[in-house]
Amino acid sequence: MNYQDALIAAYNQVKDIDDKGKVASYIPELAKVDPNIFAVHLTQVNSENFGLGNYQEKFSIQSIAKVFSLCLAYKLLGEKIWNRLGVEPSGNGFNSLVQLETDNGIPRNPFINAGALVIMDILMSNLKNPKEDLLDFIRSLSKDSNINYSSAISKSEKTYGYRNIALCNFIKSFGNIENEPNDVLDFYFNLCSLEASCEDLSKLFLFLANNGKTQDGKEILNLSESKRMNALMQTCGFYDESGEFAFKVGLAGKSGVGGGTIAIHPNQYAIAVWSPPLNEKGNSYKGLRLLENFTTLSQRSIF
Ligand code: GLU
Repeated sequence: MNYQDALIAAYNQVKDIDDKGKVASYIPELAKVDPNIFAVHLTQVNSENFGLGNYQEKFSIQSIAKVFSLCLAYKLLGEKIWNRLGVEPSGNGFNSLVQLETDNGIPRNPFINAGALVIMDILMSNLKNPKEDLLDFIRSLSKDSNINYSSAISKSEKTYGYRNIALCNFIKSFGNIENEPNDVLDFYFNLCSLEASCEDLSKLFLFLANNGKTQDGKEILNLSESKRMNALMQTCGFYDESGEFAFKVGLAGKSGVGGGTIAIHPNQYAIAVWSPPLNEKGNSYKGLRLLENFTTLSQRSIF
C-alpha cells in the first residue's frame, strides 16, 4: 500500500476504537482539551503531504518540544553537550528524582525532564535572548510555521510545577545548572507550552527524515548529528515505553503529555498524530495504535 492509502486505512481502523486512555490533568490547563480529537499529518521527503482529522488545529506539544531545544544546543555546541548529560534510556518516570542522586546530577538523557532542564541551562548560557532565539530557530525549520508559546499553559505549568522546581534545584546542588534555577524553569515551562498543529509538526520535523536538511536544502544538523538525534528518539522518546514503541511501530519519535506524537522514518517521512487521552505510560493511546497500524499496512519501518 502507498503511504496515503495506508494512512487512511490505519486512521479508519483506529478512529472508533474504545479509547482506554485518560487526558493528562496534572497541569490543569491540559485537561480542558476535547478528548475526541484525532488528527494526523504526514510529510514525505519529496514534499508530498496529506492529513486527516483536525490536522490544522494547534495543541500543546509539551515534551515533543524537547527535540527542538536539544537540536539547537547540539547545533551550537556539538558533542560537548554530552559532558553534561547522557544518552541512555532511564527506565524511570520522566520526572523522576531518584536516579539523579546516584548519578551525581548528570541526567540519563535529554528527553527526561532533568535532561531537558540541563539543555535549557546550556541554551541560556549560549544565547542572547533564549526564548526568542529558540522560537526563531524552530520557525526556521519550516517556512509555513507560526508556532508559538502559550502563556496560559506556561502559567499553569509554573503554578503546579513542584516536581520540576525540585529537579532543577537538585541538579543545581550538584553544580550541573549554571544559571538561576528560577530562570531555567521559566524557560523550560515556556518550552513545554509551545503549540503547533500536526501539519506544522510533520513539516518542522522533516529535516530529521532528510539527513539534517530542511525542505529547501538548509543544513540544520550534519548527517552524523541527524542520525544521532534519530537514535536518541528511538531509544528514549517514549518515556518508559520506548522499547515497546520500537517493537510495535519501528520508527524514531517523541511523544508529549498533550497527546501528540511525532515519528520519523529516515529518508522517507515525518508523521505527527494527536489524540489527547494517554495510556498508563503517558503516551497517546490512539496515537500509538495508529502508528502501529500504519507501519504494518505500509510494510515499512526503519528495521
Ligand atoms: N510540561 C511537562 C512537565 O514537565 C512535560 C511533560 C511531557 O510532555 O513529558 O511535566
